[in-house]
Amino acid sequence: MSATKVLVAMFEGGDSLHMKIDDKLALNLFHVDSDAHIKVSKDICRKCPHKICTYVCPVENYTLEGDELVFAWEGCLECGTCNIACDQGAITWGYPRGGYGVCYRF
Ligand code: SF4
Repeated sequence: MSATKVLVAMFEGGDSLHMKIDDKLALNLFHVDSDAHIKVSKDICRKCPHKICTYVCPVENYTLEGDELVFAWEGCLECGTCNIACDQGAITWGYPRGGYGVCYRF
């Protein structure tokens, strides 16, 4: 469902409490910085035995291409889950610079 359709449904008597998470997330705005606010050490990731980041990120910003970890920060929700889950010290976590990052609607 498009963001516009979700908003129309809400304002025509829909109930935001019963919206699906994916529909709510689709309403967020992102001001993407050209510099990543989260730095990931690929050298450390190559030796990681479990690659837990690929399981815990709610927007799947961590993926595997073959054995290589690929990180994308564009849809980051700034939840910090990856920073807590990584026990290898591969992640240097920070918030985006002022004016950048996610703008939640819910
Ligand atoms: Fe994913 Fe949350 Fe880490 Fe952003 S902070 S990359 S949304 S787990």
